[in-house]
Formats: sequence, structure tokens, C-alpha cells
Amino acid sequence: MNLSEIHYPRSVQEFLALVEKEKQLRIIAGATTFGIEQRTRYLSFEPAIACIHYIPELSSLHKTERMISIGAACTLASLEHIYPFDRAQARDLLRSIGTSAVRELATIGGHIMYPKRFLALWALLASLDAEVEFRSPSKTTIKNIWYLSDQDGLPNVEPNMLLSRVRVPLQSLDHLVIRRIGAGIFPEGDGGCLVSTASIDRRSVANFKLVIAGARAFRDYEAEQRIASSPFPILNKTIQSATRQYSESLRKSGFWNTDVLLPLIGQALQDLQRTRI
Ligand SMILES: Cc1cc2nc3c(=O)[nH]c(=O)nc-3n(C[C@H](O)[C@H](O)[C@H](O)COP(=O)(O)OP(=O)(O)OC[C@H]3O[C@@H](n4cnc5c(N)ncnc54)[C@H](O)[C@@H]3O)c2cc1C
Repeated sequence: MNLSEIHYPRSVQEFLALVEKEKQLRIIAGATTFGIEQRTRYLSFEPAIACIHYIPELSSLHKTERMISIGAACTLASLEHIYPFDRAQARDLLRSIGTSAVRELATIGGHIMYPKRFLALWALLASLDAEVEFRSPSKTTIKNIWYLSDQDGLPNVEPNMLLSRVRVPLQSLDHLVIRRIGAGIFPEGDGGCLVSTASIDRRSVANFKLVIAGARAFRDYEAEQRIASSPFPILNKTIQSATRQYSESLRKSGFWNTDVLLPLIGQALQDLQRTRI
């Protein structure tokens, strides 16, 4: 077993100074994935570890008229009554993660930055157009969470960048469907989540997203646009053409099981069609 130095920065500035000093620094938040990554009985850790648990800025929540800004070190348990988890389906999804003891430790930042696959909340956050804010000694970067997946849909998280905040735009969620697929999600199961969201503005669908995430992430912008630009209630032929588009893009990906996913997508679209406003 090698020896590591553990640091407990008390501010983001202290953390960033540490990043500049240490070449190999491992961030830990709730540390619930720490053991999973040890493949052999000879434990191996980075020479320097930064525990971000004691940085108050990372555990704060801010709400404006437009969005909710969640500090990356907020625990999953602390989000139960916060948008979008104030919706029953989203709260059930949150509560499906591990046990209450795990959720008291696990943070939203660690959940998003898990490097091996997309965990349970990722598809929901992506479908809501969540933004992630990263801090490094030289810059602050804000990007759509979708950019944490590469062109093959695999997780693409940069090491040594501190995820500081997750911003979720507030919108009227007139349609929300969450379906779990496959078996386990963590640590490396074949499971995942399909999430479909929409808001309806007067007589048209103002915003529609359908995201699938597990071992990879998937969405089809063209199919989303077909639905998003359509009048409400949505016509059957619009649903059929969007379903054909999804069928084609799922097959083209060469990864997803079309027989399992197409019926779920069909159900989500029918649910949207029946939405009462
Ligand atoms: C028993 C058990 C059951 C579980 N069941 C489920 C389940 O059913 N569904 C599911 O989706 N998940 C499940 N999980 C996974 C759980 O969601 C994650 O373990 C948790 O969210 C990770 O958060 P953490 O704060 O502990 O991250 P950590 O373990 O501290 O870190 C995880 C990764 O993120 C990096 N990291 C953490 N915070 C930051 C940051 N702010 N900036 C940059 N990098 C960062 C770390 O370096 C590390 O690579 C389970 C976990 C356990 C232990």
C-alpha cells in the first residue's frame, strides 16, 4: 500500500492552490465510490487526496427565478425537496439510489463525475438541460451536462477539474416520464434510465427532451425537434414519424437494444400526447 497525503481545503481558493502544487490529486466528496475502484487487495491511491467536504461554498443551494444552483458537495439526501426532486417520480428515482446511509454521504458532484458510467440521475439532469460549472486555477467553465459525454456517448470527465455547481433551469414540467432499464446501475451493471420531459406552452410543445443514459448516453435532437415544434395535442402521425426517427438512430448507434427501448419511447410519447394542461 502506498502512502497518500490527505488535504482538507476550507475554500475553493485553497483547493485551487492545491491543484497547482500537486501533480496528481484525487478529489473525494462522499467517498462512496472510493473502495469500488480498488481492483486488487493491494490498495493504491493517488499521492495527494483532496476531500472537498469542508468547503462551505460547495454545499450551498441558491434559487433564482430562472434556476436552482446546487453546490457539487450537496448530498443526495439533502436534495429530496428541491426541484426537480420535489416531483414524485424524480424523488422516487433519487430514493432508489443505494440506501439512506449512502445518500447521506453521496454527493451530486460525485454522482455526476463517476467516471465509469452514467449514474441514475444523469438522464434526468440532461433532459432538464442542467449546466455544470467547473473551476480550475486558470478558469471557470460552464457547460451543458450533455458535454460530459463524448461523441460515442461514453463518459468524458476531465481529471483535476473541480465540479463546483450544478445549475438546473426552472421550467414548468408538464410531462415527466422516468423508466429504469436493465438490472443494476452501480458500479457497472447494464442498467440505465430513460427520461422524457416536456413543457407545454398554450397550444404547442415548448420544450421536449428524451435522454437515455447508462453505460452510454443517447438522445436524438432531430426526433426531439419534431415533437418540440408540433402543436398540442400532438397528432398521431407526428408520434409515428418521431418513433421511426428514434428507431433509426438507436439502430445506427449499434449499442442500444431497440426491442427494449422503442416500446418505452412509444409509451413516453403517448404519455406526452395524453398530458392534461
Ligand atoms: C452501496 C451503494 C449503492 C449504490 N447504488 C446506486 C444506485 O442504485 N444507482 C446509482 O445511480 N448509484 C448508486 N450508487 C452510486 C452513488 O450514486 C455514488 O457512489 C455517489 O453518488 C458518488 O458520490 P460521492 O460524493 O460519494 O463521490 P466520490 O466517491 O467521492 O467521487 C466519485 C468520483 O467523482 C469525483 N468527484 C467527486 N466530486 C467531485 C467534484 N466536485 N469535482 C470533480 N470530481 C469529483 C471523484 O474524484 C471520483 O472519481 C451506489 C453507491 C453505493 C456505495
